[in-house]
Amino acid sequence: MLFPQIDELATTGIVSVREDAPVSAALKQMARCKLRTIVVEEASGGFGLLTAPDLVRLRLALPSLDIAIQDVGYHRLSCIAKGKNILDVLDAFENSHGYAAVVDGSGGLYGIVSNTDILSSLDPQLILQRQCLRDLLRRHEIKQARHDAPLGEVLPNLVELDDAVIVVKSGKRVGIVTTYDAIRLLQNEVPLNEPVARHMSAPLHTVSIDLTVGEALETLRQRHFKRLVVEEPGGNVVGIVTQKDLIGVAYSRWADLMRHHEQELREIIGMLESKAARLEQIAATDPLTGAANRFRFEERLLAQQQRHDSAPLTPFSVLLFDIDRFKEVNDTWGHSQGDIVLKAVVQLVQSQLRNIDTLARWGGEEFAVLLPQTGAVGARVVAEKIRHTLEQAMFGRAGQVTASFGMAVYQGGELAAALLGRADDALYRAKRNGRNRVEG
Ligand code: GH3
Ligand code: MG
Ligand code: MG
Repeated sequence: MLFPQIDELATTGIVSVREDAPVSAALKQMARCKLRTIVVEEASGGFGLLTAPDLVRLRLALPSLDIAIQDVGYHRLSCIAKGKNILDVLDAFENSHGYAAVVDGSGGLYGIVSNTDILSSLDPQLILQRQCLRDLLRRHEIKQARHDAPLGEVLPNLVELDDAVIVVKSGKRVGIVTTYDAIRLLQNEVPLNEPVARHMSAPLHTVSIDLTVGEALETLRQRHFKRLVVEEPGGNVVGIVTQKDLIGVAYSRWADLMRHHEQELREIIGMLESKAARLEQIAATDPLTGAANRFRFEERLLAQQQRHDSAPLTPFSVLLFDIDRFKEVNDTWGHSQGDIVLKAVVQLVQSQLRNIDTLARWGGEEFAVLLPQTGAVGARVVAEKIRHTLEQAMFGRAGQVTASFGMAVYQGGELAAALLGRADDALYRAKRNGRNRVEG
């Protein structure tokens, strides 16, 4: 399998609380288990997540935490079926808080998985930072010999190239014998009945099991070691990790990809690119109307200015328009009807524009239009056309709606704020002079 399944990445053995439990119970559980998040089990079978920052927020906002979790709100988790390939579930993280629940066939909670878990399975650099020696050690069984054991008994334990034997004396580890030592001993024809302690490498350097793979690799590099002896916080030696193990962890998936999966790599790149394009689109769009937002408008305006300033051949213009007496629409028909009108206005205006023009929602019920290759005469024609189209249209229950327009033609070298300021002044003149008109 190319990429891991979601359940390979999920953290299992999750601590959870029911949604009808008090927030204080969640806090107690989290403190007891040293957790930063806790899963909320909903009666409906869904899952949620309560985080440490949530608890801080609630503590500050509420007189007491003896209130049911379901009454304070928490993050809903998307559910992903166990067995899914991670590439198929990236979308589940788009609108979440970076976590999803992994559920088994009967809808029970198998574990939770974070966006970071997923990324670290794709990015070797993150694996180096996130994976600990603890994660690697499962495969390793530690070989030990007593200090007075004869070499003849100890050396046969060095079966593989990377093997090593730890030498212990009265329960304490005092040294190590590696395959390098074996070569040296054999070369020097050391009698095999001599005790191992006389020929081992000592002292024994150990590292903590909580070292990350990245830190472990750095230690190997600095000390010119080929392996690390790993100990638990209590001082127990729990295994040996070799350089090969460490490098393998980080790069094997990518090496494998490079060799065998060019096609999949292309797919991943395509997927990431389309995701980036979609995010860019979302970031530049007004969510209510689908028109460009101010950010996108300013970006396009700047591009026009730069083009014009380098070769001032054709003029360009901006329009600002504001719906007339829109407050009345809201007051009479309600805010949601107001929203419907705003969406319809955008559709109508868009239908009057060229592809190269940009219609943006400037804020509230005010809009901006960027008209490339358009001077004063052209801008007025477009503004009148839009004004007339709006005036003629029927907007459902709200009926007729008009708008007032201000226009300004770019004067080479001026700042965007100055150009927009002139359009804004013209818009206010249009309002003062009776509305439903164009000034510029
Ligand atoms: P005029 O521009 O002609 O002077 O009058 P107006 O009533 O349109 O004036 P104003 O700009 O003061 O009010 C705009 C109103 O637009 C106020 C606000 O309630 C409404 N509005 C702003 N944004 C939205 C929105 O997203 N949806 C809805 N429904 N209404 C909005
Ligand atoms: Mg208005
Ligand atoms: Mg307004």
